[in-house]
Amino acid sequence: MLDLTFEAPKPKVISGAKSDWELVIGLEVHAQVASNAKLFSGASTTFGAEPNSNVAFVDAAMPGMLPVINEFCVAQAVKTGLGLKAAINLRSAFDRKNYFYPDLPQGYQISQLYHPIVGEGEVIVDMGPGVARRVRIERIHMEQDAGKSIHDLDPTMSFVDLNRTGVALMEIVSRPDIRGPEEAAAYVAKLRQIMRYLGTCDGNMQNGNLRADVNVSICRPGDYERFQATGDFTILGTRCEIKNMNSMRFIQAAIEYEARRQIAIVEDGGKVTQETRLYDPDKGETRSMRSKEEAHDYRYFPCPDLLPLEIEQAWVDDIATSMPELPDAKKARFVGDYGMTEYDANVLTAEVENATFFEEVARGRDGKQAANWVINELFGRLNKEGLSVETTPVSAAQLGGVLDLIAKGEISGKMAKDLFEILWTEGGDPAEIAAKHGMKQVTDTGAIEKALDDLIAANPEQVEKAKVNAKLAGWFTGQVLKSTGGKANPAVVNQMVAKKLGL
Ligand code: ADP
Ligand code: MG
Repeated sequence: MLDLTFEAPKPKVISGAKSDWELVIGLEVHAQVASNAKLFSGASTTFGAEPNSNVAFVDAAMPGMLPVINEFCVAQAVKTGLGLKAAINLRSAFDRKNYFYPDLPQGYQISQLYHPIVGEGEVIVDMGPGVARRVRIERIHMEQDAGKSIHDLDPTMSFVDLNRTGVALMEIVSRPDIRGPEEAAAYVAKLRQIMRYLGTCDGNMQNGNLRADVNVSICRPGDYERFQATGDFTILGTRCEIKNMNSMRFIQAAIEYEARRQIAIVEDGGKVTQETRLYDPDKGETRSMRSKEEAHDYRYFPCPDLLPLEIEQAWVDDIATSMPELPDAKKARFVGDYGMTEYDANVLTAEVENATFFEEVARGRDGKQAANWVINELFGRLNKEGLSVETTPVSAAQLGGVLDLIAKGEISGKMAKDLFEILWTEGGDPAEIAAKHGMKQVTDTGAIEKALDDLIAANPEQVEKAKVNAKLAGWFTGQVLKSTGGKANPAVVNQMVAKKLGL
């Protein structure tokens, strides 16, 4: 079984000019709910549609239009909560967060401030073989996304595309449990993986499907432990929030930069001001975007258009029973059932489609050998050619067919690779192709025996040598393999040589 050690978080330590500093990080991840329709309207959520073609009256905030909650989006949020082992709140409520934004014509965002649908949970973050960290989730709430303002199409005008306006988001808020840039990226990666397994978020970061606001502060060694013991946030440094990060690489670079910036300020006798910052990937810097608003700046109040959201435990239980096997469980099962390494299990379970493909190949076959072939031959080749298991030219059934021929001793490992190559370029049935190309190991002991007898008769000196030194029997095996054109099964030949020479 998979034995994970939960290491105490090892904070990243940065040495400033005057002292050492540790990092404290908390993430607010915005995950777009995988749903065909928006949170409060029936408009489509299709990415890349003609601008303003997916807009219902309520999304455009036409007077008198009322939001109607999309039950499917609620189910998706509940499912995500269950996947993060979180408490599900049977009663939650929507609030209006007031701000002016041309791409959210209502003039407010409908969100959940006071009563989120999901409470405390956790994410187990993988930090290398056998090592994991626990990052606590504070809450997940549902809210509307905003649209897109476009400023670079015309020198004098700005445009607005409301296609994304009103699309459902889940905001997943972590505790400040993350202690370094790598851990932050690993946390986002794990969240993404879990949601992709659940089918609750596509996790396409390039399309902005998954983006993170990264909160960073610095503290002196020992401060974090005191904070943990007391829960007193004032022990920690002032945080800055880096908005809208949608790349794992940039998340790490931004944290690193931001920490060093704060250290320089504090060591210089200054004070970090709480603010919202943007990361500029070209310059590798963060810059101030606006001073940090507090909740009261938004004049939050309960949305009068929506009743509190009440769901039933039985409905939550139904969703719980429909949950797929999640990454950690699958990984542990792969290690346990197939006897593979944790490393291989990680590779095979990274994407649920890969895991499903592997299991189709492994079903009824040698799991370790299947893992080897899927990872080394198939994934290696797919990566090289920019393909995936969805677009692979060699199906699971075909690859399974190759493994069956190996298992029956009909083809050698070398032949199997040739066969794989033909399947990749031409397709077809593995057994038929093997037959057509004369790929067949000679396991017919009669033929091997005949070749060996001839050899023994013709080389009495070699026979004598081999009887004195068993290692020299290998010469006979080599000769037989040669004379059968590499088609004889080496294991069978070896056995026969040993028997004939009385070794
Ligand atoms: P807001 O919406 O005002 O940013 P939230 O409560 O939604 O506030 O999110 C705050 C985030 O900042 C959480 O992820 C939390 O863990 C994190 N955080 C709070 N204090 C610190 C700190 N001192 N350093 C780093 N992160 C922090
Ligand atoms: Mg925030």
